[in-house]
Amino acid sequence: MKKKIGILLGVCVCALVACLPQGGLAKDTKTVRVAVPVKAMQPLQTSTAAQKGAQSDPATQAGTTNPKAKGNNTKAAAPSLPVYDPAKDAAPAEGLPIEETNFQFSEPLLVRPKTDTIVIHHVGVPDGDTSAAAIHRAHLANGWAGIGYHYVIRKNGLIERGRPLATVGAHAYGENYHTVGINVTGNFDKEIPTKAQLESLTELVTALCRIYHIEPSATTIVGHRDLNDTDCPGKNLYALLPQLRADVKAQLLVDRFKDTHILKLHKQPQAPADTSVARDVPVQANMGN
Ligand SMILES: [Zn+2]
Repeated sequence: MKKKIGILLGVCVCALVACLPQGGLAKDTKTVRVAVPVKAMQPLQTSTAAQKGAQSDPATQAGTTNPKAKGNNTKAAAPSLPVYDPAKDAAPAEGLPIEETNFQFSEPLLVRPKTDTIVIHHVGVPDGDTSAAAIHRAHLANGWAGIGYHYVIRKNGLIERGRPLATVGAHAYGENYHTVGINVTGNFDKEIPTKAQLESLTELVTALCRIYHIEPSATTIVGHRDLNDTDCPGKNLYALLPQLRADVKAQLLVDRFKDTHILKLHKQPQAPADTSVARDVPVQANMGN
């Protein structure tokens, strides 16, 4: 019964599925994006085996890429990625409250070799609030390593961790080896994100830009639809991405101003002691007629 529910969620929750091609699976016989059989979830021990495991995540294995998408596909990066070891591969902290989920993944995860792009997703179906745990269960039930996104942002603004930040995600076909995936829960073809979600999204994307030295632009902070043939992250959230980029840029400028200011303060020579007699002149002397 449990498994049935999981499989049902797997079909409905975009958590992968939102990331389906336009028209959905049933109508699209040309792509095999999610046609991955449920398979045994034995832990794999070697890097090579783990590599295969990561590619069993549908987002890395099948489907078509948007011709506008950047290169840097899975084939180029695949051969020599190390297995993720949280003791030595953990990414820097975001400096934000993140709800740690400590999910168990059915296969070893791999270390992402570079990070130059942040991809925004929505859940799609079902709409409303969906937890990272529900998405994780759905993806496991589909035979994948586990949740494909690095973060899930709930309706109340809570940011939940999905895959560890340093690992290769499974959220944007052909683009997982250089991107971080954020899922904002809801169906933004018909809903609009909550204020709390947008605030958390801005803070999180700003933190990621700081960590990875990413300059906000239309090619570095993107919607899933910019990379793959999908409606994700829904038209209402997609329309807010220019504002998101502007807000993140403004935050980063504040950082730079602070850095410059602090630098100046550090460099400023100490003023010599003022021994002039002017110090002893009563203030009133300069104020009268
Ligand atoms: Zn998506």
